[in-house]
Amino acid sequence: MTTSMDSMDRRIFLGALTSGIVAGPVLAARHRTQPASRTNAFEWTEVASGRAWVTGGSTTGGAVLAVRSEDQALVVDSKFAGLAPLLRSEAETRLGCPITNLINTHHHGDHTGGNVAFADCQMLAHTGTAYRVSKSIEGYKQQVASADRMFTRLGDDAAIEAAVKAFSPLGERASTLGHDDWVPGQTINRYPMYLRLGRMTIVLHHFGPGHTDNDVIVQIPELNLMHCGDLFFNRSHPFFDPNGGTSAAGWTRCIQHALVLCDEKTVVIAGHGAIGDKESLGEQLRYVESIVRGVREAHANGLSREEITAMSWPFMDGLDREGLRSRAIAAVFDELFPADG
Ligand SMILES: [Zn+2]
Repeated sequence: MTTSMDSMDRRIFLGALTSGIVAGPVLAARHRTQPASRTNAFEWTEVASGRAWVTGGSTTGGAVLAVRSEDQALVVDSKFAGLAPLLRSEAETRLGCPITNLINTHHHGDHTGGNVAFADCQMLAHTGTAYRVSKSIEGYKQQVASADRMFTRLGDDAAIEAAVKAFSPLGERASTLGHDDWVPGQTINRYPMYLRLGRMTIVLHHFGPGHTDNDVIVQIPELNLMHCGDLFFNRSHPFFDPNGGTSAAGWTRCIQHALVLCDEKTVVIAGHGAIGDKESLGEQLRYVESIVRGVREAHANGLSREEITAMSWPFMDGLDREGLRSRAIAAVFDELFPADG
């Protein structure tokens, strides 16, 4: 595995830049309100004219950003293995060129399982992401083995048929797949990291543990666009993963830093939920701050862990993924009061 920037492919990554970024025309906000098209299996929303598209986070896996500059193209995250070949095909059709690079926002399988369909690309991630992905190879192989269960999540017959067809070559070589098909070969542990894609500058940020211990925010200043991975669940209960190094205190800091990077027109891609903006990212911050406050107050009032995890507060009203509510409370409780679990 490559562990230093020096060995990166300089056709793609020119390494750390020492000067600031000169932002180009901000195109993203103008396109934010365009309706998503439904001409393919995935719903793609154009977020920068002719240059960037997003297909959102859903049961098909986390949100994916596809962006092109010159003859190079990047995807951020890869959904699940069973859907990734079709995902790649559709992205390349929209971009009009082959995908050359992939960045993972963190290690979770709904964001990295599809790496296997991009193994010929430059795959880049946080050092911790690569490590955790490398520990889950059997789980990823299982995603391939059970791909048929994933196809049905696309809904209609035409989409399922397209997914089956696109997956077929990958399925045929399932027994040969292993470490290098999923684990990003290029890793980073210094931030911010400035990368070059064609004529476009990509900035990677890591602000410490949050959703996991290896969250990376992918920012494209020229497009006034950022992909926050699962640091941002838009209008949804967020997923806290203690086994992945989650931290409510850290999550708060991560979003505070991310908000500094935004203005009122920034397109903020959530790992799950609709494409957001600075305001909705701020709602995520208020959620995490509020759940910490709520758990502290309930604990101070003498309530047990069991009683507190059954609670809800007004800031939780109307959010998606109700099944994550008690899990989120439990994770925060265990972080705040580890001796009382
Ligand atoms: Zn995640």
